[in-house]
Amino acid sequence: MWNEIKANISSALVYFREFILFLVLVVVIIFLLIEKLSLSIPLILLLVIVGVIILNLIGRRRIKEINEIKNIIASIRQSKYQSSDEIILTEHLSSLENEIKEMFEKAKNDIEYLERLQRMRSQFLANVSHELRTPIFSIQGYLETLLNGAMDDPKVNKHFLQKADQHTVNLSNLLNDLIDISMIESGEMRMSYRYFDINLFIKNILTDLSLMAEEKNIKLVFNPTKEELQVFGDKDKLKQVFVNLLQNAIKYTDEGSVEILLEEEKKFVNISIKDTGIGIPNEDLNRIFERFYRVDKARSRAVGGTGLGLAIVKHIIEAHNSKIIVKSKPDEGSIFSFKLKK
Ligand code: ADP
Repeated sequence: MWNEIKANISSALVYFREFILFLVLVVVIIFLLIEKLSLSIPLILLLVIVGVIILNLIGRRRIKEINEIKNIIASIRQSKYQSSDEIILTEHLSSLENEIKEMFEKAKNDIEYLERLQRMRSQFLANVSHELRTPIFSIQGYLETLLNGAMDDPKVNKHFLQKADQHTVNLSNLLNDLIDISMIESGEMRMSYRYFDINLFIKNILTDLSLMAEEKNIKLVFNPTKEELQVFGDKDKLKQVFVNLLQNAIKYTDEGSVEILLEEEKKFVNISIKDTGIGIPNEDLNRIFERFYRVDKARSRAVGGTGLGLAIVKHIIEAHNSKIIVKSKPDEGSIFSFKLKK
């Protein structure tokens, strides 16, 4: 009992200065009113006793409130709450309750975000290991077979070497794409914007890809605009975008054509890459820009795909403050389009 009162009073003594000021004020008023010392003394004594009782009450309440807040903080630390609605303080502490609730929600969101990031990182690492394993195991298999005797068999030796060679190309593509993705994600991708003529730029890229298209008997179609058309962007990064989209269009088209369309708008040029290929099912359209997502894994690998191309394309286009849009119908073809500033 005494200990409790002592604790209460020492807690309330946080307001000691205010309390003394108040007492002095009341004593002065009593002196002024009564002017007789003999009468004043019992009144002052009474005042001191009442003061101590008040101090005890204030202290008790303060300790109760502090304990309430302490319990809430401890419960948050021990992850006892599922939602902020479970955090309840005495009514007059409602503004503090709201602050604690907001802090709780923020911490919860931050933790969820970090956990999601961690999951994504592990998933990415698992995907990378899996993707690296495929070409390395294949190369290892072909070399072992050759060393175990196939080297002297003229019917298979060249074919096996070509296969091993193809897998080294896949491996090198994958490593290049991985370097790009990690540069982009660590914010190290330096952009260098300038104006350049889009007609000439596309013509050069089409020349580079003409052999690939010819091999598959696919027609590359491009009608340049009548006058020179300047667009604003990072030429090297945009080359990567065009090459990726055009290579995909050729890779995933068995017959027909791949066309590049330019539509001039007031402040932008709308660029579309259209193919007459296998198309993409509706349910996959939202996911093809994810890292390592492929509609048909076997087909992508067979044509040397890394599953990273569109993820890189999306990042580069977004760095140009633009958005890549895809429309596609299975067995009819796909159109990938985006805008560039004029
Ligand atoms: P990949 O290296 O596998 O081609 P991408 O990131 O470039 O990876 O593309 C992801 C997936 O999107 C591909 O595996 C393919 O299934 C699909 N895809 C991309 N472009 C086309 C296209 N023009 N036609 C049909 N499917 C496509």
